[in-house]
Amino acid sequence: MYKYEFDSDTGGILLTNSDEKMPKEPRPVFAEEMNILGFNRRWHYDNQNDIPYLWAVAGNYFYRAKLIAVVKGGSLYEKPTLEFVEEDGLPEGETILPIDIAAMSKKNFELMENLRQATIKRIFNYWTRMKKRLDCFHVAFSGGKDSIVLLDLVKHALPKSAFIVVFGDTRMEFPDTYKIVDLVEKQCKDEGIEFYRAASHLLPEDSWKIFGPPSTVLRWCCSVHKAAPQTLKIREILGKTDYVGVDFVGVRAAESVKRADYEVENVGMKQRGQHSQNTILEWGSAEIWQYIFMYGLPINETYKKGNSRAGCLLCPMSSGRANFFRRNAYPDEVDKFADLIKENITDEDIISYIDNGGWNNRKNGRDLKNPLTNYSEEISNDYLYITVTNPKTNWLEWFKTAIGFPFPYAVEESIESGNKTVTAKVKTVYDKTPAMRIFKSVFHKAAACVGCGVCESNCRQGAISFKDGFHIDKKKCIHCLQCHEIDRGCLLYHAIVLPLEGEMSLKQNLNTFAGHAPKPEWFREFFYNTETFMQKNTLGSKQFDFFKRFLYDAEFVDKKTKIPTEFTALIKKIGWESPTAWGLIYINLVYNNPQIRWYVDNLPLNRSIDRAVIEEKLKMEEVKGQGLTTIPGAYKRLCETPLGTSLHFGTTTSDGKNLATLTRTKARVDDGRVILYALYKLAEAADWYQFNLTRMMNNEASAGVSPTKIFGIDKEEMEQWLNGLSTKYPQFINASFTHDLEKISLFSDKTSQDVLKLFDS
Ligand code: SF4
Ligand code: SF4
Repeated sequence: MYKYEFDSDTGGILLTNSDEKMPKEPRPVFAEEMNILGFNRRWHYDNQNDIPYLWAVAGNYFYRAKLIAVVKGGSLYEKPTLEFVEEDGLPEGETILPIDIAAMSKKNFELMENLRQATIKRIFNYWTRMKKRLDCFHVAFSGGKDSIVLLDLVKHALPKSAFIVVFGDTRMEFPDTYKIVDLVEKQCKDEGIEFYRAASHLLPEDSWKIFGPPSTVLRWCCSVHKAAPQTLKIREILGKTDYVGVDFVGVRAAESVKRADYEVENVGMKQRGQHSQNTILEWGSAEIWQYIFMYGLPINETYKKGNSRAGCLLCPMSSGRANFFRRNAYPDEVDKFADLIKENITDEDIISYIDNGGWNNRKNGRDLKNPLTNYSEEISNDYLYITVTNPKTNWLEWFKTAIGFPFPYAVEESIESGNKTVTAKVKTVYDKTPAMRIFKSVFHKAAACVGCGVCESNCRQGAISFKDGFHIDKKKCIHCLQCHEIDRGCLLYHAIVLPLEGEMSLKQNLNTFAGHAPKPEWFREFFYNTETFMQKNTLGSKQFDFFKRFLYDAEFVDKKTKIPTEFTALIKKIGWESPTAWGLIYINLVYNNPQIRWYVDNLPLNRSIDRAVIEEKLKMEEVKGQGLTTIPGAYKRLCETPLGTSLHFGTTTSDGKNLATLTRTKARVDDGRVILYALYKLAEAADWYQFNLTRMMNNEASAGVSPTKIFGIDKEEMEQWLNGLSTKYPQFINASFTHDLEKISLFSDKTSQDVLKLFDS
């Protein structure tokens, strides 16, 4: 809401009524965090944890408006390093004084009071307007700082009997969070406010084994352990499955670019058919902390231990540094979940897999010790056969959810040696029809379902029950198909299924240009005579054969029609020799040409590789004979085209005629739309519409390739690109780097082709 600045007088923050852009969110720093990082090596301060001493903004630590230290790096097992600011910082040996909370509160009182009154009024007015229309007003309490403030405001706005408080207990919360929840629960009960806890019937120890560890795209944990239990709990409290309620939520716009677009009131954003009020949407963390200090609200002790969020013990969305502070504060509890990763993942270097974020990247059952093996799809003689062995739930029950299917099908059941097999047979021509998604969803559910509660919570008719065995009540079911509006119909299936066929196979066809890799003059001829080039050119027949391959893979020419594409027109418009044009071309090649993909996947950045080493690497890919000569030769030739001379995709040295060394270099990117195009290509190839930067930097086992890897961009530079793109193209991307949460969201209604249209404007 307000801008803040650091106040050298009080050591606190000073809110100002200014229209300037909000700076990054500050958080108070207590002695405990300072001791962990080593501030006591340089300065004196009392070892008390009631009053904070400093403010941290991202990795920067401020004392009385002065930047005195910066923290860098850090991972689950590695402490971040603290660097003291030498020039203009705080001289060594000084005593650090605590923030003068009373003076800070006095200075901010008027602005805070205005904000407080306005927010209380907003809650009250909403309740007055909606109380006859809604079954329930509910505060979603998490034990974090925002929900502490939110609850206090709602308490001041509404009669005690007008709302309930529900703590969504993932059973993975920090021990300090449970302490504050106990305290707040007692306070509520003493004040006559109903307080409930909602938890899944599955323990995380079990769910992590069943679903495999969560990851940035497999966030089954949020549905299974948070959203579904809360919905089911409210239904139980109200005795009504189709209740309509409002959730007072502590979402704040300053937390991310995406949230900045949220409305205060909305319907269906959080959950279909349910209302939510983002009560403190405009509040910044400066105001949240000021409010907590001003009104003496309880502070979750986790914030004093360096944790900027009160979340789950081990979360795939967290940054490395955040993981360090979590494990430092709760080693046994965090290790319990790290052990669950170790127990369920096959990776040989499991410590590195955990510490470097490999687990964050998991997108199916491939890395799991126990992936889903009882479901298969096979195509034979124009028929698709879906086979489920020993189904976990009865497919006939799930079939009740659909009124029928608009195509002929047959389902057979058989039992052999005690194993039950269900086989569904459908003509392949129906495979891409919308109804097929539901048809397959039925068998995904049949293969995997353990009754995690998510389908039950999606069904507002109360038609799905797992009590006394799985059953769907035909009389209640209205065929709304909401129980199928889940990733691939079943969160569990989605999290543990092995990747289906179709991923690019690289081994057979690395030698895509043989001895005829493109020459710069061929491109010149193609771009000057684009319309006639495919019919008439000066290339020899072998040269043309292999250049055609390049033209198809670069998406310059349509393989079927042999006609130059709109992409070629765009490249000519941008300037076919420009780095921007070759950035886009390079991306297409990475996705379409195995030789270029191998280059990006296998050659380290900025390291000169001897030809002999390249040959060894190629042998490991089963390349033999001529290929061992022509493939390195092709890289040499490609470096002489604008791929090398304009984009700087690599450099070579030669021993006279042949390649001696090859170095993959950081490519030149001058235009963010090139990055955005690469991001959408990645999303389309690997279904990466939501991920974090750490995951992107560790993009190894993905079906796509991240722009960081393609262009050799480091994390810091990528963060800058992402921030810039979010601001310039909010309709395409939202990226937020707030505290320890780094989240990148693309929009599934946009495509890489839409990104190319941005060059037309
Ligand atoms: S969610 Fe809809 S389709 Fe599924 S069981 Fe309930 S009423 Fe039927
Ligand atoms: S079918 Fe639904 S209830 Fe069953 S495991 Fe999958 S998501 Fe959970």
